[in-house]
Amino acid sequence: MSFVKGLKCRECGRHYPKEVLYVCEYCFGPLEVVYDYEKIKETLTKEAVESRPRNMWRYRELLPIDGKPTDGLNSGFTPFVEAKNLAKALGVKELYIKDDSVDHPTLSFKDRVVAVALSKAKEFGFNTVACASTGNLANSVASQAAAARLKSYIFIPADLEMGKVIGTLIYKPTLIAVEGNYDEVNRLCSQVAAKYKWAFVNINIRPYYAEGSKTYGYEILEQFGWKAPRHIVVPCAGGSLITKIWKAIKEFKEVGLIDTYKTKIYAAQANGCAPIVCAIKENSDIIKPVKPNTIAKSLAIGNPADGFYAASTVRESGGWAESVTDEEIVDAIKLLAQTEGIFTETAGGVTLGAAKNLIESGRIPKDESIVVCITGNGLKTQEAVIDKIGNPIKIKPTLSSFEEKVGK
Ligand SMILES: *Cc1c(COP(=O)(O)O)cnc(C)c1O
Ligand SMILES: [Zn+2]
Repeated sequence: MSFVKGLKCRECGRHYPKEVLYVCEYCFGPLEVVYDYEKIKETLTKEAVESRPRNMWRYRELLPIDGKPTDGLNSGFTPFVEAKNLAKALGVKELYIKDDSVDHPTLSFKDRVVAVALSKAKEFGFNTVACASTGNLANSVASQAAAARLKSYIFIPADLEMGKVIGTLIYKPTLIAVEGNYDEVNRLCSQVAAKYKWAFVNINIRPYYAEGSKTYGYEILEQFGWKAPRHIVVPCAGGSLITKIWKAIKEFKEVGLIDTYKTKIYAAQANGCAPIVCAIKENSDIIKPVKPNTIAKSLAIGNPADGFYAASTVRESGGWAESVTDEEIVDAIKLLAQTEGIFTETAGGVTLGAAKNLIESGRIPKDESIVVCITGNGLKTQEAVIDKIGNPIKIKPTLSSFEEKVGK
């Protein structure tokens, strides 16, 4: 049972069958999955969704697989936290955290895209999967490939955080650390993908893979009470997640799961890698590639594949963009932890730091609903904070030592 009509070029609109294709052969535009929304409307009701298991597949009609999902059966449906303490600290009325720092199985939103990619790769008959990654994708492909009994080849920049490397190696993939930045890793992977018959999740099956991100958006809408919040702040690396959250909102409207929306979407990046934010602020259609230099390594893509579409999304929604310094990233990680008890990675620091600046500058009003997208877990990027959070108080195992050092 499938609701997928096929693929369509985002640039010239040409149609393609649902095969292992990702660029238009006429104009080289990226391909996107097209659905039969009329048919989806009949089965995807609120009641149907609410009666299904609490995982990302509860919206399965809007995901690009033909048969039953085989991966990610415990991924998604992460907490949607009303952040009252943080709201108070920022001086706003209504603030929410969509918390994928606790997504299953590898603690980032990448588990959603990989679940769709691997389910689809198996439908296409692949037995080997691969990816180019800034870290979280590596963790997720390695983990889910192990569980699915698929072989995996994973390419990362050689300077990733220890947590991301260990969190990949533990699953025993073939892990290749390339001496270069992500953009160089990605270029190499395009060459490898052309030669080897693997499902490269973010290259040759990218149109299907990317659809998994929509579930993060669907959950925001469902958990907000089948309504759209007014402002959503989203971290950007390749720029795919932000476009898919926008697509999720439009699709829910299209199939009648929400009545209306007035949502503005905001892009967040680090100063040291802000090609999307720069294009938005300069009101330019051209994404100027940069050489990344930031502690937010998971977002360090200097030449974002979906950068143009990310900027268009922000513009179309009437949102804006903001970037932050490495110091602001660390401050925001600490602020989230110390107000809401949520430990996010550097990407989350970028998003909250940008949200804070957008609120302070008046771009986001203080009296409307705001969602901050927290997409990854802080235990994976401990290097960013290790010398900025103090130390435990060391004492002898005696009451007098306790009283001397800690006080009464
Ligand atoms: C990959 C990633 C992003 C950004 O995703 P894109 O779709 O490439 O823009 C955001 N947050 C985290 C933690 C990520 O790993
Ligand atoms: Zn085309």
